[in-house]
Amino acid sequence: MTARIIDGKALSDSIKADVAQRVEALRGRGIVPGLAVVLVGGDPASQVYVRNKAAACEKAGLHSQVIRLDADITQQQLLDVVQQLNQDPAVHGILVQLPLPKHLDSAQVIEAIAADKDVDGFHVSNAGLLMTGRPLFQPCTPYGIMKMLESEGVDLWGAEAVVVGASNIVGKPMAMLMLAKGATVTLCNSKTRDLGAQTRRADVLVVATGKPDMITGDMIKPGAVVIDVGINRKADGKLTGDVEFASASKVAGAITPVPGGVGPMTIAMLLVNTIEAAERAAQAQAAP
Ligand code: NDP
Repeated sequence: MTARIIDGKALSDSIKADVAQRVEALRGRGIVPGLAVVLVGGDPASQVYVRNKAAACEKAGLHSQVIRLDADITQQQLLDVVQQLNQDPAVHGILVQLPLPKHLDSAQVIEAIAADKDVDGFHVSNAGLLMTGRPLFQPCTPYGIMKMLESEGVDLWGAEAVVVGASNIVGKPMAMLMLAKGATVTLCNSKTRDLGAQTRRADVLVVATGKPDMITGDMIKPGAVVIDVGINRKADGKLTGDVEFASASKVAGAITPVPGGVGPMTIAMLLVNTIEAAERAAQAQAAP
């Protein structure tokens, strides 16, 4: 058996085209949706991500500004920048690219972002709203994965879903979103005993660990839907996921490639969250 490849690039293109139409409609009302991306220091991977996000914004007609700050900026200076963006009516979405240099307290910085401009969905109040089933912004990566599962016609109701990796930005919100759709969710971490015994139960398996090729074909239930979030750079410069594609694709029913799977969807959902933030702001302004 060879798994169907889930084309995140094609799906993200159609989502971005939809966003572009919504941007056009807002522009027709004199509102230019705007995203501010704050980049601290010169981490090469972060620079690439920020460049890709800004380019996707411009292509969809959203205004984006990248605020580049020196790596030795103080916590207070960074908080002041966030505060200015909170108050700027031309900025509808704010994103602080992680990871921040070690001397900065990223939790405090994220909490300083106005919750209604937190398009990454990382603010504690947005995490809490998601947890309690009333999301304002869904974190972009798990949100994009839900869109992929939806487009594949995957029915999560009563399904066994296993998430490997329990970070605040991917694993935990992923588990919550699938739970909300009726899945029985198992959330694994580095302490999980006999990981294969967990993953082999999964109808839907989402892997986000940052450990290259750690999930092999023998750890996958035949016919399962496998979503590989990992982005790891190999010695030869090529990208690989957290799932060993060659063996996994022989067992899975459907699988995301790396690159071209989850990555493009994450950016598309950032645009969705930003246009939603701008539409909400426009609605609030129009309300008597
Ligand atoms: P983190 O490092 O924050 O979290 C990794 C998680 O994986 C932790 O919960 C950790 O467990 C768990 N883990 C690590 N090793 C194992 C193991 N051997 N078995 C089981 N669980 C394990 O990573 P992120 O969630 O931020 O990112 C994960 C990957 O996804 C990275 O490769 C990252 O580059 C990629 N990524 C891709 C995105 C995209 O758009 N495609 C977006 C965001 C991330 P513990 O809690 O015990 O430490």
